[in-house]
Amino acid sequence: MDKYKILIVEDEKQMAMFIEMELTHEGYYADVVHDGREALVKVKECDYDLILLDVMLPALNGIEVCRRIRQFSQIPIIMLTAKSDIPDKVFGLDAGANDYMAKPFAIEELLARIRVYTREKESKRKIEVKDIILDDKTHQVFRADKEIELTKKEYDLLQKLLINRNVVLTREQLIESIWGVDYEGDTNVVDVFIRYLRCKIDDGFEDKLITTVRGVGYVIKD
Ligand code: CA
Repeated sequence: MDKYKILIVEDEKQMAMFIEMELTHEGYYADVVHDGREALVKVKECDYDLILLDVMLPALNGIEVCRRIRQFSQIPIIMLTAKSDIPDKVFGLDAGANDYMAKPFAIEELLARIRVYTREKESKRKIEVKDIILDDKTHQVFRADKEIELTKKEYDLLQKLLINRNVVLTREQLIESIWGVDYEGDTNVVDVFIRYLRCKIDDGFEDKLITTVRGVGYVIKD
């Protein structure tokens, strides 16, 4: 899988280096720039997946950078603001930032916020769990190299379970995400579709992918 690319825009060199190190350690690809103008140039020339954007920057402040990026890109932006600067947060969000973190922050928290966006992106790509592959670009599903034909709902259901692997999803969560919040029918519909899905992906295999958690819902474990 391609590495997720993050641009760090931060003029405090120590801080920038620390974040870069942590991101690299987590398996991300990270670039660093130290002022607002450089940031704009970089964003235009590279295809980043997310930007960490400090507010107080030389050349062009973070809020202005954010506003300008929004004129041509919807890339996720997390603003890094000084703790006391509540107005920065408001301006940042007004300028189109997706999220903000007040400094000083715990690096784990920043990584957790970043994961929200990486998951979103991952969900649109290829997912492999054990011997099953779901390729969202081609809308194909394979188990043990054999292609499996799924209906739209079965596919959506499988994708949701794979994206959230190791997390037990309740019938209500599955209904909401696949049938929509307006769905007024019985939640048993989930059990029916899980049965269809099992027929196609688990029948004939010793290792069953979908596990029922009695009274709660369903999970695919890796
Ligand atoms: Ca700064």
